[in-house]
Amino acid sequence: MKVIVIIPAAGLGTRMAPMPSALDAKTKKPHPSKQFTDLAGTPILIHTLRKFAAVDAVTEIWIALRESEIEGFGERLRKEKKDVPTKKVELVIGGEHRQQSVANALNLIIAAPDDIILVHDAVRPLVTPEIIHDVIEAAKKYGAAIAGLPAIDTVKQVERTSEGAIVKATIPRAGVVLAQTPQGFHYSVIKKAFDEAAADGFSGTDEASLAERSGHEVAVVMGSPRNIKITTPADMELAEFYLRK
Ligand code: C5P
Repeated sequence: MKVIVIIPAAGLGTRMAPMPSALDAKTKKPHPSKQFTDLAGTPILIHTLRKFAAVDAVTEIWIALRESEIEGFGERLRKEKKDVPTKKVELVIGGEHRQQSVANALNLIIAAPDDIILVHDAVRPLVTPEIIHDVIEAAKKYGAAIAGLPAIDTVKQVERTSEGAIVKATIPRAGVVLAQTPQGFHYSVIKKAFDEAAADGFSGTDEASLAERSGHEVAVVMGSPRNIKITTPADMELAEFYLRK
C-alpha cells in the first residue's frame, strides 16, 4: 500500500507580504511567496517537505507550484538529496485556487483504490511525525481523516457588512473542531470527491469538505496548536520560536 503526499504550494500568500512579484525594498528582488520565505534560514516548503520525507510510510511526495517557481525549486531540491534520498518527489503546476492545485496532482497520480493520499499545506512546517502517523492510520481505517483541534475560544456565526461583522448566533463550542492538515483519504474516496466537485463546480477550502459532500464520513484525530498555518508575519515569529524549542 502506497502513501502519497500532495503539498499544495502554489499560493501567492499576499497576507504575508505585498504581491510576490513586487520588489523587496532591501534586496531589490521579488518578494518570495510565503511558502518560500526563509524560516530559520530554510524555505518553509523545505521544512515541510523534510517532515514528510522523514516518515518511513510515505512513498511519494507531489508538490504543486506556480509554473514560474518550478525550475528554481527543482534546483533547490537537488541540494536536498541527502534528506530525501528514498522518496520520489514530483513537481506539478498548481492551479488558480488551492483545490485546483491539489486536483492537478491528483490527476497525474497513479494509485490503487486503497492507497492513501495525504494532503498537507506547504505552510504548516511544524507538523509532527505523530500527527502524520495518526492521520495515515485513521485514513486507512475510516477512508477519510483529518487532524483537528477542539475550539478554545467561543465561536460566533456572523454576517459581514460594509461596517464590519454582526453576530448572528453562538455555535456551541463542544460541537466544533478547527480543521488542520494533514488530511488523509483512500485514493478512491478523494478521487470521487474531487471528480464530483469538478462536475458540480463546487469549491471548498479543504479536501475534507469535498469528501463530506460526496457522502463520506471523515474522522478527526488530534492535531496540535503548534501545527500552525503560517499566514502573517506574526506567525513567522511564532514558528521560529517553536522551531528553536
Ligand atoms: O492561501 P491559503 O492559506 O489557503 O493556502 C493554503 C495552501 O494552499 C498553501 O500551502 C498555498 O501555497 C496552497 N495554494 C495552492 N494553490 C493556490 C492557492 C493556495 O497550492 N492557488
